[in-house]
Amino acid sequence: MARSLLNVGWQVATVAAVKRETGDVKTFMLEPENGEMSFVAGQHIDVRLTAPDGYQAQRSYSIASAPERPGCIDITIELLEDGEVSPYFHYVVEPGDQVEFRGPIGGPFTWRAREGARLLLIGGGSGVVPLMSMLRHRAASGKAGEIPAVLLYSSRTDHHIIYRGELDDMDAADGNVRVLHTLTRHQPPGWAGRRRRVDIEMVRDALGVLEGMGDGDGNGSEVVCYVCGPSDFVENSALFAVELGIAPENVRTERFGPTGT
Ligand SMILES: Cc1cc2nc3c(=O)[nH]c(=O)nc-3n(C[C@H](O)[C@H](O)[C@H](O)COP(=O)(O)OP(=O)(O)OC[C@H]3O[C@@H](n4cnc5c(N)ncnc54)[C@H](O)[C@@H]3O)c2cc1C
Repeated sequence: MARSLLNVGWQVATVAAVKRETGDVKTFMLEPENGEMSFVAGQHIDVRLTAPDGYQAQRSYSIASAPERPGCIDITIELLEDGEVSPYFHYVVEPGDQVEFRGPIGGPFTWRAREGARLLLIGGGSGVVPLMSMLRHRAASGKAGEIPAVLLYSSRTDHHIIYRGELDDMDAADGNVRVLHTLTRHQPPGWAGRRRRVDIEMVRDALGVLEGMGDGDGNGSEVVCYVCGPSDFVENSALFAVELGIAPENVRTERFGPTGT
């Protein structure tokens, strides 16, 4: 009985395509067998692997794609060489394979364009994934002009920046979006961006950029801050946001794992 209850909600998806994002990050495009899966930007799915001997491992992965494309769910996975699940995805999973998943999951760490707001998004490493879903949703919603958004994105080096081309294009094409990079470990020659871990000054600058942006309806709306990444990154960044005056209920957090970026 307990076993069948645990299985409730699991379904199968076919891997439609695999895309390399960086040296250690890949995106997997999943087509749920049951058809379209409605979700809200910021939500995640659980993925379950089962070995031939019945051993199972389960991990959560944020949805990277926009809810406007419910028939194909993208998840973006960073390889942890000593991990159980991420190496399986990186070294074994190919287009045409099937994976078990359940979802969508997640309530507070979600955003709908119809809620409006000025968005301050702070991501560390693969923590950018659900924030990318929000940015893609914003772009696809038809309300982008009303929703100023700033992404403050911390990566180890420029080679670790996920979705770099798409983020560059968004930043260049949409005057109401700014992407502010910081590189914590190594910066290429001529790097004009930030070169340290996210600190309160950096969040203050990002907030200043956001407050100076946009001339649509979003100008008068509240700042809502979403922070995602390693646990210590999230704790620090959320504290900075609150110290800088963002209402605590408007600072929403998602923690991915134990280590720092
Ligand atoms: C809500 C939620 C959403 C998530 N979304 C994503 C996502 O979009 N993309 C993504 O790549 N990951 C995401 N994660 C993390 C993911 O669930 C796994 O923890 C991660 O892929 C590691 O799994 P693993 O089996 O490969 O490693 P494990 O076997 O679990 O761990 C291997 C080693 O790595 C350490 N470790 C575990 N997780 C992390 C981590 N996140 N960072 C650094 N070290 C870690 C462990 O302590 C251990 O030492 C999310 C986690 C949560 C809770």
